Amino acid sequence: MAGMLGVLMSRGGVFGGRASNMGNNGMTYAKVLTPPNQAPNKTLRNNLLPRKIEICVWRALKKRLPVWIELDKRGIDLHSVRCPICDNDLESVDHTLFNCSFAIDIWNRVFKWWNFSNFSPSNGPDSLHGKSSHVMSSLGSKIWQAVAWVTLYYLWKNRNLKAFQHKGWCAPVLLNELQVKSFEWISSRIKGKNLEWTNWLTNPHMYLVC
Ligand SMILES: [Zn+2]
Repeated sequence: MAGMLGVLMSRGGVFGGRASNMGNNGMTYAKVLTPPNQAPNKTLRNNLLPRKIEICVWRALKKRLPVWIELDKRGIDLHSVRCPICDNDLESVDHTLFNCSFAIDIWNRVFKWWNFSNFSPSNGPDSLHGKSSHVMSSLGSKIWQAVAWVTLYYLWKNRNLKAFQHKGWCAPVLLNELQVKSFEWISSRIKGKNLEWTNWLTNPHMYLVC
């Protein structure tokens, strides 16, 4: 099973690829959970990020990321349905992205980076909608939402590295990865505003009022 999943991972990237034991119709893990006539609607857009991030967030919100218990519900035979990161609980979307000890650590680091002192990981789902009492402008809300989405994307990416390749990032490295990529994506797409790397790293809070 692990070998097959490795193939799925290498062919299909983050969301999986062809499943040879699921028939010859080219089904993918992602397709198992996302009927072809359904796709992210216009309400779930953040033009500061690549489309792949929007799709990942949309799948997460719809519980259509191919975590083990979602695949198990659909009759796919798996060796285990426990979290491949902590092994302390069943692997659901909420567990992987918000409740796993690793996810809690990452959300805490992101909130600390943004100086959201009164935040806890339970604020993670609200963050996906750009909600925060700290946000002072619509652009600030969009920037914070984009950071939350990149956080979620990297948690999912790390989960796949763990599940399919038995490796992943430690928390400080993952935080650095998402800091770099969120800066790269947002600064290249934002209009009428220059983000500065040192500020992004040390005082991103200033961008909430821009
Ligand atoms: Zn876990």
